[in-house]
Formats: sequence, C-alpha cells, structure tokens
Amino acid sequence: MAIATINPATGELLKSFEALNDTEISTKLDLAQQAFEGYRQTNLEVRSRFLNQAADILEQDKSVFAKIMTLEMGKTYQSAVAEVEKCALVCRYYAEHAPQFLADVPVSTDASNSFVKYQPLGIILAVMPWNFPFWQVFRFAAPALMAGNVGILKHASNVPQCALAIEEIFLKAGFPQGVFQTFLVGAAKVADIIADDRVKAATLTGSEPAGMALAANAGKQIKKVVLELGGSDPFIVLPSADIETAAAIAVNARLLNNGQSCIAAKRFIIAESVADKFEKLFLEKFQALKIGDPMLPETNIGPLATPDILQELDAQVKTAVNGGGKILIGGDISQLNMQHGNFYPPTILTNISPDKDIAKEEFFGPVAMIFRVPDIDTAIAIANSTPFGLGASAWTTDINEQQRLINEIEAGAVFINSMVKSDPRLPFGGIKRSGYGRELSIQGIHEFVNVKTVWVK
Ligand code: NDP
Repeated sequence: MAIATINPATGELLKSFEALNDTEISTKLDLAQQAFEGYRQTNLEVRSRFLNQAADILEQDKSVFAKIMTLEMGKTYQSAVAEVEKCALVCRYYAEHAPQFLADVPVSTDASNSFVKYQPLGIILAVMPWNFPFWQVFRFAAPALMAGNVGILKHASNVPQCALAIEEIFLKAGFPQGVFQTFLVGAAKVADIIADDRVKAATLTGSEPAGMALAANAGKQIKKVVLELGGSDPFIVLPSADIETAAAIAVNARLLNNGQSCIAAKRFIIAESVADKFEKLFLEKFQALKIGDPMLPETNIGPLATPDILQELDAQVKTAVNGGGKILIGGDISQLNMQHGNFYPPTILTNISPDKDIAKEEFFGPVAMIFRVPDIDTAIAIANSTPFGLGASAWTTDINEQQRLINEIEAGAVFINSMVKSDPRLPFGGIKRSGYGRELSIQGIHEFVNVKTVWVK
C-alpha cells in the first residue's frame, strides 16, 4: 500500500510520501537507541512535564489535528475533535498517575529488604491502525514514555500526516529528539524492524493477519508483543431494560467512527418479548441519519477509510443476504447517489442464523445484525459464539441477570446498561482472537517494563 493521503470522501490523492530506505531506518534506530540511554535517566517529574505539555498542544491545536484526521480517514470532524481531547486526557492521566504506578513495591520476605522495581525496556515499536489515528498512538505512547521507554511508530499507510503530526507534538512538548519517532514504512518492513536487536518489544492494533504476522516475527526473537485486534462485540437487551435508552445508545455504539471501531457493538442480541419495540426504535434512528461530507457539522456518517474496507463490507452484506438475511434498511451503495468516496449506507440485517459463519465475522462499517433470542441462556451462548472476545454491552435491571452476564460473557470487558468505551482509568484489551495484553490504567503501563525483583539479604 502506498504511503499517501487520499481523501476518502472524494477519492482524491492529496499527498504521497517516500518510504524510508534501510539506511534511513537504521539511522533512526540508532537515534532512538541513543535517546533511550539519556531519556531513561530522566526523572518522572520531567517526563510528566513533557506529557502535560503534549496535552496542552493537543488542546490548543485540536482543530488542526482533527482536520488532518478527517481528511485522511473520513471520521466526522466533530468526532475527530473529541478524539484529540481524549488524547490530552490520557497524557494528563499518566502524567499524574505514572509516578504511583511505577513506584517500587516493597514485599515482606526473609530478606532484609525485598521489593519490585519497574524499569524501562528500550525501543518499543507501535504498529498502529487508521481508525483512531491519534487515540491509538497516544494510548500506547503516554504510558510507554512515562515508563522511560522510547517509541517508534509505524502508522497505517493511509494516515501519514497524522503520523508526522504526532511526532511533532512530542518534540514540541519537550521530549528529547529520538524519544518518539515516526517511521514512514510499509507493512513489509515491520518484520525487519522487530528483528533488529535495538527494538525490544512491540504493540499492534489492527487486523488478525497483521497481528499474527507481527507476533510470529517477534516470537522468533523472543520479544514481547501486545495485540489489540478485531471484535464482533455483542449488545444484549433483556426484557427488564429501558428499551428507549438501549436503542438510542445502540445506534451510537454501532455507528461510532462510521462503524469502524473494534469495540463497536456489532451483534444486537435482543430478547424476543422486546425485539419488535427495539427494532422499530433502532430503525427510526437509522432512518434519520445524515450521510455525507465528514467536515460538515450536520453529518452523522462519513465515508469508510479506504475502498478496500468498503468492498469487503459490501461483500459481507451480500453473503449475509444470500444466506437468508433480510435487510431492514441500507445494504445498497447505489441508493446513496454518491459520485465519489467510500460511502456505505447504514444497514440493519435481520433473520441471519447465528450458526452461519457470516454471523461470527467482524463487520468493519455501519452494518448491524439483529438476533432474536428466547432467553438469557441463548443470549449468552450467541454472545460467546464468535472467535472474538473484546467487549460486551448488556442491558438489564435484573441483578441476577447482571451477575450472570458479568461472569459468563467471554470478553475483556463487560459494560452493563452502557456502551463499551475505553477510559484511561480502566484496562482495555481482549481475549480469544481479539488479542492479548492490556492497554491503559496501571496494567497498560506495566506491559512494557522490566518487573525486576530485588532481594537484599
Ligand atoms: P491492518 O491490520 O492491515 O492495518 C493495521 C496496521 O498493521 C497498519 O499499520 C498496517 O500497515 C499494519 N500491517 C498490516 N499488515 C501487516 C503485517 N503483515 N505485518 C506488520 N504490520 C502489518 O488493517 P486494515 O487497514 O487492512 O483493515 C483491515 C481490517 O482490520 C478491518 O476491516 C478490521 O477488521 C481490522 N482492523 C481492526 C482495527 C482495530 O481497531 N482493532 C483497526 C483497523 C483495522 P499498512 O497500513 O502499511 O498496511
């Protein structure tokens, strides 16, 4: 894939970038290594100051950064502004809490002094996706840099201007040269970079094939990897729920980021007794959506990030329909009358058998599948029937049902009477084929440190 900015709303190629050659990659790795030697000695107060300054820059120039995101990957400008604000939040969160998360932990033993010490590992490679082109990077970088590591970013090839802007933010914030660098390289170069002795670990957010490739290459070098991959998150609504609220939140949960979020609700599993009401409300809200230019404030749904994502989504919907699925709304690109751009109409599918392969796939776009269930047992069984296990949202006011859902759903997160969202204060990550390791919170900052045991007799 060429490294380039192509406006997904128009298809226009706006800017192309040369990929780094091997010599340039090696020079940048040298710089990162040298930077690490000095940066690891800085104290936490200094690192916190830099990170708070990064937050200041994000807040001051949020409209500039938001425009770059919208231009490169098509999210609505308003949601891009909110993304920049969230990046500032995660910077401030780790600037404040990292000293406590990284403090020595005394442990009583028969030694005269024994404790756990957290030390940085060195250069950490971040392979990042285009869907939240700022947030995914900051949620890695804020804890990694606070812990004294240095970061190198291989961003998705369709968001190079985001990648360069992020590097500049860290430099302007005061982090020494080389502490955070963007590498404009294609996916094919990642294997060499992770194999390089100077690189100590990696994190990847993206698709299963990308995660498998990185983990396999890192495994050959015994290097740690954190993987945040796809999801086909369930959204369960049981009879006692507030159906109006559930339906309203369901629309946001599915269509967040034009439907391109790993933690978007994708499979709506609704108790039969409330399914008609839920479906009617859900459909009404889909009918009211405005699709169009993501820069305009009235737009709810912008284009998908790339033509490939559009084609894949369209093929999935056709497979679902060929297998007996019914379309309540959407499902036909031509009805949009868009001359250009990767637009897909918000779509609701019903009548799909949960046993079909397509029912278990991730739909990375504005397509919802509704399944009707007779009881909570069936709801949980369907929720757990995919290879993924990222997040789950479940709606019920019955305490016993809430306990069952919390205990029995196979996912990295369960949200009761709320949509799934990431929050710097809580760990984020999945199980099964959604990946492993955690980002955010105290768990996130401990992924890329040497947890050193110290024993003094
Ligand atoms: P990819 O997984 O291909 O891209 C994510 C990142 O991984 C990019 O930086 C990409 O680089 C890189 N990458 C791709 N292949 C490899 C590889 N073999 N080794 C190392 N790095 C690699 O996502 P796509 O953009 O192709 O999207 C496809 C699907 O992935 C989506 O439909 C969705 O299901 C899933 N996805 C999930 C995301 C999530 O948040 N969990 C985010 C984005 C996608 P490059 O851009 O240069 O190819």
